Amino acid sequence: MPSAVSLLPVLEKLLTATLACSPTTGPTFTGLRCKECGHAYEASARHVCEDVCFGPLEVVYDYEAIRARVSRATIEAGPASIWRYRDFLPIQGDPIDVGTGFTPLLKANNLARRLGLKNLFIKNDGVNMPTLSFKDRVVSVALTRARELGFTTVSCASTGNLANSTAAIAAHAGLECCVFIPSDLELGKVLGTLIYNPTLMAVKGNYDQVNRLCSEVANTFGWGFVNINLRPYYSEGSKTLGYEVIEQLGWQLPDHIVAPLASGSLFTKIRKGFDEFIKVGLVDDKAVRFSGAQAEGCSPIAQAFAAGRDFITPVKPNTIAKSIAIGNPADGPYAIDIANRTGGSIAAVGDADIVEGIKLLAETEGVFTETAGGTTIAVLKKLVEEGKIDSNETTVAYITGNGLKTTEAVADAIGAPFTIEAQLDSFKAAWQQAQAQH
Ligand SMILES: *Cc1c(COP(=O)(O)O)cnc(C)c1O
Ligand SMILES: [Zn+2]
Repeated sequence: MPSAVSLLPVLEKLLTATLACSPTTGPTFTGLRCKECGHAYEASARHVCEDVCFGPLEVVYDYEAIRARVSRATIEAGPASIWRYRDFLPIQGDPIDVGTGFTPLLKANNLARRLGLKNLFIKNDGVNMPTLSFKDRVVSVALTRARELGFTTVSCASTGNLANSTAAIAAHAGLECCVFIPSDLELGKVLGTLIYNPTLMAVKGNYDQVNRLCSEVANTFGWGFVNINLRPYYSEGSKTLGYEVIEQLGWQLPDHIVAPLASGSLFTKIRKGFDEFIKVGLVDDKAVRFSGAQAEGCSPIAQAFAAGRDFITPVKPNTIAKSIAIGNPADGPYAIDIANRTGGSIAAVGDADIVEGIKLLAETEGVFTETAGGTTIAVLKKLVEEGKIDSNETTVAYITGNGLKTTEAVADAIGAPFTIEAQLDSFKAAWQQAQAQH
């Protein structure tokens, strides 16, 4: 079997050749660029500015080409998945299509009334395909790109959902898969990975330790790590959460968004998605406030925001919101900058509030989210109470994962069924008791 590493130079040459041609059908991305110093790199598997400043790399697009090719009508005629936005994504050929994206945007009237808002929407990625979290977006893009770059083995450092997604989509694409998680994850996340039969490494340590180990493995084994050496491509998948909300609001921007922060990538890429649609003329520019949500037990970005710092002091995670428990968030400074520049805020809530947030969303809107979504709803509530979200603002809360994966978090907080005999009398007695309780 030829190793992925030895194939790379050939593929890079091919890529450069293809990128040079075809204004209407070829790829619209032109390479990578350092987010800090602007130094250009070819579109290979790399994520840091090794030549100059060690800043993060980002995908660069030819927006004139996109503008010439794309309209509201062409997008609306596309598939009901993230691939309707493929000209904004860093892929060359056919996507790995597992139906990811175009999840519901619910008008949340009951929750809005409860919180004192008038125009609240829930973007529900808890029903994303194939593994019920927003990670399906980033992995669909990363593995498509991994395949194009010639990788045959793919991997990731995960807080749970990423492992589910990488294992599932790798299975569909026929790629070898080895994923790494902290060993203390919820059963649903572990089982929801193993079922796809990857090699699963449960590392005795927290996410930040898992991530450090994976950087070494990436250097030694030449695998495609979706959130390490493929990170510039991976993170672009999150932009689709921005595009979809614009389209689902009838080609308009919201006034305020609230989203959870782990590494901060999702948050910054929603902003990039909005900016790109403005830039190519798909939506009118308007101020949008960006607010972020963290769990108190792992809130390095919220702490820096509160202290008016633009740098992150790493923390050791200790929270039930494991999927967003990253103690040393790579995109933290960019997230703080966006919140500051847009007049938003970044806040943290405790584990008890997170459980209340999960229950509140379920009881009012029929949406069962995991701990990250509970964090988002609890922060939304807190920001309204503190007057940081105006009742008239069109507000979108991003729900990023499904509650059936983190049942441990709520098991003790939701009561129990009435166990009865299969007889009418037994039911009547229980019903009376139930009435008294409600
Ligand atoms: C990964 C994840 C996030 C946020 O991730 P970022 O690293 O900030 O992009 C949010 N919610 C859930 C459920 C996740 O799994
Ligand atoms: Zn640089």
